Amino acid sequence: MTNRELIEKLRDERTLTKDVWIQLFSTWTDDDRAFAAKEAQKVSVSRFGRDIYFRGIIEFTNICKNNCYYCGIRRDDEAVSRYRLTKDEILDCCAEGHALGYRTFVLQGGEDGYFTDERMVDIIKEICAQYPDCAVTLSIGERSRESYQRLFDAGARRYLLRHETANEAHYGLLHPPELSWQNRMRCLRDLKAIGYQTGAGFMVGTPGQTPELLAEEMRFLTDFKPEMYGVGPFLPHQGTPFRDKPAGSPELTLLVLSLARLALPDLLLPATTALGTVRGDGRQLGVLAGANVVMPNLSPMSVRKKYLLYDGKAGTDCDAKAGLESLRAQMEQIGYRLVEGRGDFAAGA
Ligand code: SAH
Repeated sequence: MTNRELIEKLRDERTLTKDVWIQLFSTWTDDDRAFAAKEAQKVSVSRFGRDIYFRGIIEFTNICKNNCYYCGIRRDDEAVSRYRLTKDEILDCCAEGHALGYRTFVLQGGEDGYFTDERMVDIIKEICAQYPDCAVTLSIGERSRESYQRLFDAGARRYLLRHETANEAHYGLLHPPELSWQNRMRCLRDLKAIGYQTGAGFMVGTPGQTPELLAEEMRFLTDFKPEMYGVGPFLPHQGTPFRDKPAGSPELTLLVLSLARLALPDLLLPATTALGTVRGDGRQLGVLAGANVVMPNLSPMSVRKKYLLYDGKAGTDCDAKAGLESLRAQMEQIGYRLVEGRGDFAAGA
């Protein structure tokens, strides 16, 4: 079968065998990618129209106990100036975001022991009380099942925890020995079992990633069926062991987005900041390749340059309002619009 036929098969049957995925990732051309994007766009338009959900990311702490080899806020980088926002500062971000039309707040941070269950519960409850029309999404790493349950009971309904790679040995190449792929997977299963809309995902172009591993990614996607899926290019950060590694390819990232859309038509699929960082039009291309979510930055200006997961991160120079307006203009340029609303996952229309 040609790659084009494989893409049609994926569209019609929603999954492919591992060998076929390997073929696709070993031999794809730019024409294949454009074809996948066109098909994926048809699926996303039929499912969501030309509506794009927007979520405000509040980067509330860059303090982290982990030492991931790729990440710009890893524990051992002493050049990073560390901060954590107070509850009031977080609530100020929500107030600003709500006035701008945001109806989802994503609390993202390093694994910072200061934010115990008790403190997180207090923050989540307060956001839910002040903004009953909003969804709270957490992206704060690995915790126990009991902890995830307490945060859910406090009102959080979505959780982003990229698995980073679907292959255990590859996970070991990207992380220090104290972190385990098994535990990452345990977390994802717990989150789903508790009832969170669960976001998995990975970086395209991490060191050691092969067509075979990309095939495993797609198999993981179609087996686990997350509600959300964050995929962006790996981008090096000068303070990490991966400083000299090449960045992931935006084209391959776009191909993965399209294939993910074809596999799971209902997926909440962001055009990521990392994609918008490697190319100025990255988020537009992401939407044209099947993405239906964008996640602009709602963090206070004073901390934005301290939350750099990779070098050159887009959006650290303009404030929440200006950032949202330029994104809105970008979306309108390609015939899409940002829509106000929680934008929860909904299965098959
Ligand atoms: N600590 C939390 C959330 C913050 S990191 C967690 O571990 O889930 C959010 C995501 O940013 C990570 O899952 C990773 O996929 C991505 N990321 C980190 N470093 C990156 C880099 N150098 N290039 C691209 N993406 C990166």
